[in-house]
Order: sequence, then C-alpha cells, then structure tokens
Amino acid sequence: MTDYYKVLGVEKSASEGEIKKAYRKLALKYHPDRNKDDETAEKKFKEVSEAYEVLSDNQKRQTYDQFGADALKGGGGFGGGPQGFSSMEEALRTFMGAFGSQTGGGGGGDFFESLFGGGGGGHQSYAQQGASKKTTINVSFDEAAKGIDKEISITNFVDCSKCHGSGAKSRDAVKTCSGCNGAGQVHQSRGFFSMTTTCPQCHGAGQTITDICPECHGGGRSKEKRKVKVPIPAGVDDGMRMKMNGFGDAGSAGGPPGDLFVYINVTPHEVFKREGDDIILELPVSFTEATLGVKKEIPTPLSGSVRLTIPEGTQSGKILRVRGEGVPNVHGHGKGDLLVHIQVETPVNLSSKQKSALQAYADLETEHNSPRKSGFFDKLKSFFIL
Ligand SMILES: [Zn+2]
Ligand SMILES: [Zn+2]
Repeated sequence: MTDYYKVLGVEKSASEGEIKKAYRKLALKYHPDRNKDDETAEKKFKEVSEAYEVLSDNQKRQTYDQFGADALKGGGGFGGGPQGFSSMEEALRTFMGAFGSQTGGGGGGDFFESLFGGGGGGHQSYAQQGASKKTTINVSFDEAAKGIDKEISITNFVDCSKCHGSGAKSRDAVKTCSGCNGAGQVHQSRGFFSMTTTCPQCHGAGQTITDICPECHGGGRSKEKRKVKVPIPAGVDDGMRMKMNGFGDAGSAGGPPGDLFVYINVTPHEVFKREGDDIILELPVSFTEATLGVKKEIPTPLSGSVRLTIPEGTQSGKILRVRGEGVPNVHGHGKGDLLVHIQVETPVNLSSKQKSALQAYADLETEHNSPRKSGFFDKLKSFFIL
C-alpha cells in the first residue's frame, strides 16, 4: 500500500504549498524528458504524480486520510474510473508550466501518450476536452413531483484569469519553438528510415514560453469554486441522471469544457410511493366506511388534496384512480394518476355495546351480503361432491 505522503517526502500535516513544492522538485527530477528510456524514473514520476493528484485536492486528500488509496480507485467519487486518468493528466498539465515549455496552443504530445496509453491526436494540436464531473442532489418527494431549482457549489478548473489560459506572462513571452520552427514535429533520419516525432522541446505546440504566468505557474488554469443553479424538472425520479453541458472543467488548448452529471436522489415519502408517473396511496378505511360508502378528503402531492368518493360496498384491495393527480411526466408527456389502494380495516377493541350491535347485524346477515364468500363455498361444495 503506497503512502502518498512518503512518496512526496512530506509530513501528514503538510500544507498545500509544501506539497506543491515537494511535488515540483520530484517531478523535475523524474520527468521523462530528463530520463529518456529510464523505466524506474518513469515509474517514480507516475507515483509522484498520483500522490500529488490526491494530496493537492482537498476533497481527495480527506478521503485518502480517512479511507486510504483504495477509496479513490475504481467507481465512485470525482475522477473515479476512467476519469481518474484525465484528471491526473490535468494535474500534470497544470504542473508542466514549471518547465517553461508549455503553451496554451498545445504540448503534452509524446510523454502523455506514453504515460496514458495514447489516444487521439498524434501530432495535431493538443486541444482536449475538460474533465466531466458528477454530483448527487437530494430532493424530497414533493420537490421531485413539482420540480425545483437547486443551488450547488462546484469546483472546476477554469482558464487562468491573468493569462486567459495561455500560461504565458505576456504575449511577448510566447516564442516560436526553435526545435521545430513552429511545426510541432521534428524529422529524424535513421539509416533508411525517416521518422517524424513530436518535437521534444515544445511537445508539439510549436511554441515555447519564455516567461510563464506567475498566477497559474504556466498551467493556464486555476481552480474556481462557484455556485450553479440546477433546474430540476418536475417529474424526476430517484436514480435519474441529468447532464449539464459544459459545467465540467474548462478544456485545454481550446478544447471544449467537460460536462456535469447530476444524479438525483429522491428521499422516500411517508405515505406516497411512485410507480413511474403514477402515485400510489395506501388508504386505510373503516369497515363501516367501506360498507356504507363515504366521501373523503385525501392528500395529493400536487394539488394538496382532492375529494374522493369511496362507493358503498367497496372491497379491500380495490384501486380507485384519480386522473391527473400523479406526477408530471419528466419528458412532458402529460401527467400520471393517483392510485388509491383501499385497505379495509377490521374493527378491533369493541365495547360490549358495539359487539351486541354487530351481533344484531349478524343475525340479519344473508348470503347476499357476502356474494364472494357464498360463491367461494359454492365452488368448494361442487368440488367435494365430484
Ligand atoms: Zn496564467
Ligand atoms: Zn518544437
């Protein structure tokens, strides 16, 4: 089990600044550009970068301190799964400025590809989409039914306000790369072969920065916390996912921003249940109400209440449908219904007066009062005779 603090050689109580400093020193030492074909150095570089990616992010550092590195791998959390790499790459890119060889117009090239298994763009500009994020929003049953705007805080990489993402201190600090004359690629002849590779000096950008932006240390980006209003549409259900285009990290080198995926978590209601767009209400009614019929005011999440007629002779288990009192369809296809499940309650704790009244009724009871019961015994009778 790797100890990220040990990897960076810092105390567990190290400040953000100390961590950054330690990382910069080690990353310079083990950087692949300085240790060509040195597998140990590359491994070290990877370890150091991984440690920095976690310890430089407050949220990840907390998770790591509490649960260890495994909690940050695979599945959940920001930057989990395949996104882990992209944010690790980001941490690296943020840092790349320290070499003074990264411009907003590109960079990365070979060494990112070798570290992260390539993907996409051989020699073209290093424009990349920003990382996508995910978050969960808790809404109540009523909020899900009616829709609501929820404000959340997100922390994203944004273009550095000082250099607007270029990473250079000024316009003059951007020079055409001398290694490739701005082409981003170099040609090498080896025997019969001529090879084209990404320029090692500018990593394919075609430009170098002589003076890096002091604000972002050349990374071109900074972290920014901001509030975002998430419009949660009426009719969302538990487990649904909303995509907010462009609300992830800013892209690099002109790449588009990532997206924000919002997972909806609906807290269950005490009496209502959802079944698609329909709402289920289990309604206990007394034996006399069900027998004689009754009009009842019942609660609904949308209109507050509706008057429901429970007809004379309503059986337990009967479902009464109140049209249009369900949840609006989240895609705008009308509304669901309120389905009232009738549960007839057998009376308990009778006084002697109540018992004698019921007994008086029982004496008057005929087969016609319980057609289902009579029918049932008729079937049994014919079964036994055969
Ligand atoms: Zn900057
Ligand atoms: Zn170059």
